[in-house]
Amino acid sequence: MLTDDVAVAAEPENVVELRGGKPVLSLAPREIAPEDWRRYEAYIEEILTVLGLPPETPGTRETPQRFLRALSEATAGYEGDPKLMTAFPSEAAGGREAPLGQIIEGPIAFNALCEHHALPFHGHVHIGYIAGDQIIGISKLTRLVRLFARRFTVQERLGEQIADTLLDLIEPRGVAVHIEASHLCTQMRGVEEHSRTTTTFWRGAFREAELRREFLAEVHRRDAR
Ligand SMILES: [Zn+2]
Repeated sequence: MLTDDVAVAAEPENVVELRGGKPVLSLAPREIAPEDWRRYEAYIEEILTVLGLPPETPGTRETPQRFLRALSEATAGYEGDPKLMTAFPSEAAGGREAPLGQIIEGPIAFNALCEHHALPFHGHVHIGYIAGDQIIGISKLTRLVRLFARRFTVQERLGEQIADTLLDLIEPRGVAVHIEASHLCTQMRGVEEHSRTTTTFWRGAFREAELRREFLAEVHRRDAR
């Protein structure tokens, strides 16, 4: 479960269900029995020791335990986020006759684990959308990014999942997602390349070049701050 409390200020009775399909947002708590947990800690201790970590110093005695817990937290997105399954009336607005105005949120920072090396990649996301009947608060967008970032993933899938889930949640007329990330798997090993990778994903009304230009110009303006 994502436990970081991104501010959500509303009384429970004001909560209404979001429309749209729920499959990607279903809750799936991972069950790991305590005896399995201890076995995994022993595996990790063995691996870290053979790599060179002294196992029995005051600083390292609990490292396998901490490492496993950190990995578990870094992949908590698999468990879902109950606070993403509801919207608040104050977030509903718009109307089909509204002009094609973009709502752009970001930068939203994220940390993920690459599925090829299980090492972190991190960066930030900008999300743009053209509202239909509903808008969604920045706290929910942050949750949406974390839901898919806290997994073993790749930058491309992360962007696709954010864009498609936002479509599913609030049925906007268009969605744009821009991700810029640094990948530790290329920085810590191999060529030690320190470049940053950017990817952009477009849905719906963003097929129009003018809207894409407007979105990217705003993203770059914010990046330059
Ligand atoms: Zn990698």
